[in-house]
Amino acid sequence: MPSLTLPYGCFFDSEHATVELRAQEFAARAESRGSIRDRVRALGHAGLLQNIGKGDVRSLAVTRGALSYQDALDDLAFVIQELGGFPLAKTETEGSVLEAARRGEAVLCFAMTEPDAGSDLAGMTTVAEPDGHHWRLTGIKHYISNAPEADHAVVFAKVGAGGDAKSAGRIAAFFVENPTTEAQSVSGHSIGRVLLDGTPARRIAERGGALALATLERCRPTVGLAAWGLARRGFDETITRLKTRNQFGKPLSEQPVVQSRIADMALDLEQAALTALWACWTRDRTAADVRTGYMSAIGKLTATEACSRVLDQCVQLHGALGVDEGALIQQLWRDARPLRIYEGATDVLKTVIAERWLTAG
Ligand SMILES: Cc1cc2nc3c(=O)[nH]c(=O)nc-3n(C[C@H](O)[C@H](O)[C@H](O)COP(=O)(O)OP(=O)(O)OC[C@H]3O[C@@H](n4cnc5c(N)ncnc54)[C@H](O)[C@@H]3O)c2cc1C
Repeated sequence: MPSLTLPYGCFFDSEHATVELRAQEFAARAESRGSIRDRVRALGHAGLLQNIGKGDVRSLAVTRGALSYQDALDDLAFVIQELGGFPLAKTETEGSVLEAARRGEAVLCFAMTEPDAGSDLAGMTTVAEPDGHHWRLTGIKHYISNAPEADHAVVFAKVGAGGDAKSAGRIAAFFVENPTTEAQSVSGHSIGRVLLDGTPARRIAERGGALALATLERCRPTVGLAAWGLARRGFDETITRLKTRNQFGKPLSEQPVVQSRIADMALDLEQAALTALWACWTRDRTAADVRTGYMSAIGKLTATEACSRVLDQCVQLHGALGVDEGALIQQLWRDARPLRIYEGATDVLKTVIAERWLTAG
């Protein structure tokens, strides 16, 4: 399994090699881990969740690279614990839940997207009304990763007319126990709706929009490393195939056009790793209260687009085998596709990047 910490040592400290090795050992274990709950439990037992919400971004990145190289669902199980756990750690709320999540004993999810509020969260209609010391949430969240198996959800909602004048109409963040959910279907994912119908909740942050952005800015560049793991696996499989697949009297790897494609894939892989790791390193080196949305957007966008190009080349070079539904290369291609949509679609991230230059000076 390829190591990120060796070729890109300039981005890492000595402890990152240990984190990566632990993730690689976990990923390489030939256990059948079916459900997200089983995977979260196994990740917890292996100690891979112990820094959820408090570790540095480069540790998340090397872990994601190692897990996604072997199994995209293990990576999903890992990162959604972080997405759900970071808001709890940042607001110092629900400490016992966070500890259970770090042990792999509680499955979390992060519920923001709605049918009419995808890229544009201002359209959010889930409403929160105060009820004594607590709150009640009403609305629907959809395409929420790991929701069908979640014990707890971090939910974003607009404070309703019953809230105080200062917070009414603003997005706040809430904690929901045992959410009611309904499964949806996306290839290679565990995903679903969170159904809120006067559901009891605790408010964990009044400024929920800022908390959501901080969570996404931290996780976005690591999506790039998840993409890298998938693409690097596809690349390795493709190199093996090209060396052994004989057509026109010799291995395909000896065809000049095929070699040109291999070089293009290598360029995209290096570009993906370098840019995403640079974004992770920048986040780690920046004070917690300083925004890094620009770098996070560049890291995620560059790596996910480059890795999709790599996997498309892998499919092409496998011929019919590349589009066979049961083939690994086909699964990798499908696993990589949503990464350009969630946590900020490529087009939306372009607006973040352009805005920085249009508003500068
Ligand atoms: C596999 C998967 C897992 C997910 N997990 C979660 C989760 O755990 N929690 C959660 O809250 N959400 C989750 N989501 C939802 C995800 O965050 C949204 O799908 C994403 O934000 C895009 O919203 P949308 O699908 O409504 O697309 P829309 O907002 O309808 O946008 C569709 C497309 O229009 C384009 N577009 C949109 N806005 C602009 C613009 N301003 N300028 C130019 N082009 C634009 C983009 O190409 C975009 O892809 C997940 C989605 C998927 C597919």
